[in-house]
Amino acid sequence: AFDAQTATAWVGAAEVAVKANESRLTDLDAAIGDGDHGANLARGLAAAVVAIADKQPSTPGDVLVTAGRGIVAKTGGASGPLYGTALRRAGKALGDASSVEAAEVGEALEAALTAIKELGGANDGDKTMVDALTPAVAAFQAVAADGGTVGAAAAAAAEAAETGLAATVPMQARKGRASYLGARSIGHEDPGAASTALILRALAEVTA
Ligand code: ADP
Ligand code: MG
Ligand code: MG
Repeated sequence: AFDAQTATAWVGAAEVAVKANESRLTDLDAAIGDGDHGANLARGLAAAVVAIADKQPSTPGDVLVTAGRGIVAKTGGASGPLYGTALRRAGKALGDASSVEAAEVGEALEAALTAIKELGGANDGDKTMVDALTPAVAAFQAVAADGGTVGAAAAAAAEAAETGLAATVPMQARKGRASYLGARSIGHEDPGAASTALILRALAEVTA
């Protein structure tokens, strides 16, 4: 089951993972963008952790909405509004339940993906975070539909996100800053897909 405590642990673990990988995310963004993705997301997730500690939300939905607001308030770049809106939308999808099962978490992740696609206009294959999140949502929902636990679904989602990240290497960027490089964006992992994989791996860790 996925409750406020688990959701809070997820945001905390994501913050730790992004902090530990900040220079790697920065290097990826320096190759095809402006080199700030690690710093942007580390700042945003730190703000999310503070916002949750201040508010002490009692439902997992409120935890994610609170985290999303913290990220939107403190994160620069394209990724701040995208991740912030995604978390808010995922939280809203959970409603006011105090604990939810894998199917509901899968729906919340799908709502996050829909929010990112609506806001950023990216589709599969555009070399963005969508290329990690799309296969992750599908993998999560497949395990959930089979009666799997949140932890089993999250493990499948993390692995699918990592495979999706690897698939961004040969892609040419069609959205975001990297698209300005044209064919020179080919041959690098997308930084937002890399951070999405870290965030989903964090979910798998806290639900294992
Ligand atoms: P900025 O490019 O404004 O400096 P960041 O470096 O924080 O912002 O984030 C870059 C990442 O954001 C990209 O690697 C990509 O995954 C994601 N991104 C950028 N634009 C879009 C978009 N329109 N839709 C989805 N994701 C996007
Ligand atoms: Mg950047
Ligand atoms: Mg920037």
